[in-house]
Amino acid sequence: MKKYFIKSFLILILIVLGIFAKYYFEEINFSKLNFVHRFVLDRVLNEWENEMSFLPSHERGIVEYASLMNLLGTLECSFVERIFEINPVDLGFKGKFFTLEKPENLLRIESVTLNRKGEGYETGISYLPSHVNNDYELMMIEMEKQIGKKLFIDSGYRSAGRQAYLFLFYLAKSNDYSLRENAKIIAMPGYSEHGSPNTTAIDFINANGINGYNDSQIAEDFEILEEYKWLTENGYKYNFYLSYPRENRFGVSFEPWHWHWEIKK
Ligand SMILES: [Zn+2]
Repeated sequence: MKKYFIKSFLILILIVLGIFAKYYFEEINFSKLNFVHRFVLDRVLNEWENEMSFLPSHERGIVEYASLMNLLGTLECSFVERIFEINPVDLGFKGKFFTLEKPENLLRIESVTLNRKGEGYETGISYLPSHVNNDYELMMIEMEKQIGKKLFIDSGYRSAGRQAYLFLFYLAKSNDYSLRENAKIIAMPGYSEHGSPNTTAIDFINANGINGYNDSQIAEDFEILEEYKWLTENGYKYNFYLSYPRENRFGVSFEPWHWHWEIKK
């Protein structure tokens, strides 16, 4: 009886492993990850979130991709590699590849506490290459002079590691494991303007904590701001350009808060 039980148990384990292997090695479904891929992704996020919680907050935005990958087991690691080997064009994203290298002139910008509906909102520590920060500061001096308001940095430079974490985080938490939907709102590592060492993007937020994308806000909440109107009229004087207007050619949703730095010839 005992022998029979052990034999059945082993057969059951083999069947479970067989099913796991079948779905693990199955091609990645861009519309919705299969249940094994979802399971592996959740484990990856757990590991990374755990690691991130031990890092001092100023290091989270510039965490190295390799150090995150080193935390993972073989199956998790190769799954993440398979995700990031997908050509983003196949997901509908048409932006260009920048680099995975870090800029050398990064400046650390301290967190600011904003007042969002009576509650404090921390922007968190961010980073910008010095040439981008210089123009941002000059632009804010002029904005404040003209309309008595300014914009803060909600997100500046992000390392490839940070971008990888955010891509997988939004894939699981906001986009129901659909790579296609996810690609509309967040770029893969190397493809984000937030990771571009020269033409770096800033996500702006105003003094009342309005950025147009979190705390159940929508893009139009940012679009109606006086600060946004000022940017559309004056941003170019400081080399800042709106990257993703409505119906843009990159396949990205309208992002009125996201402006990148560029010297236009
Ligand atoms: Zn952005």
